[in-house]
Amino acid sequence: MASETAAKKYTGGCHCKRFRYKYTHSAFENGECDVGNCNCSVCNMNALLFIYVPETSFELTSGSVEELTRCTFNTKSYYHHFCPTCGTEIIGKTGGKVGINVRMVDGIRLEKLKLKPFDGAALL
Ligand SMILES: [Zn+2]
Repeated sequence: MASETAAKKYTGGCHCKRFRYKYTHSAFENGECDVGNCNCSVCNMNALLFIYVPETSFELTSGSVEELTRCTFNTKSYYHHFCPTCGTEIIGKTGGKVGINVRMVDGIRLEKLKLKPFDGAALL
C-alpha cells in the first residue's frame, strides 16, 4: 500500500491529555485517503472515525494501554479503548492493528476529511 511509502508523523490524545500518542500513517487530513465512517452500534453512538495502522507504528507517549478502559461486544474481535477520566475513545484494537479515532488527532478539521462509509453494522 502507498501508506507504507509516504508515512507522516501525527500526534493526538484524549481530551484531558492524560493519554497522548504518536503514530505514522500516510497523509489523510486533507482528503488524501479515506477515513472509515462505520455504522456499527458503538461507532454510531460515539461518532467514531477510524484510520488503521500496524501496532508497530503506534506509541503512547503519555499513559499506558493498561490504564485505558477497554470494552468489547458481540464477536469480541474489536477492543475499544477510552480514557477513564474524560471518557473519550482514542483507539480501538483488532488483529495486530490499531484503529485511531481521528477526532482525537491534533489539528484535524473534520470538514477536510474524506469519509468513506463502512458497513460495520452488517458484520457485527
Ligand atoms: Zn482523558
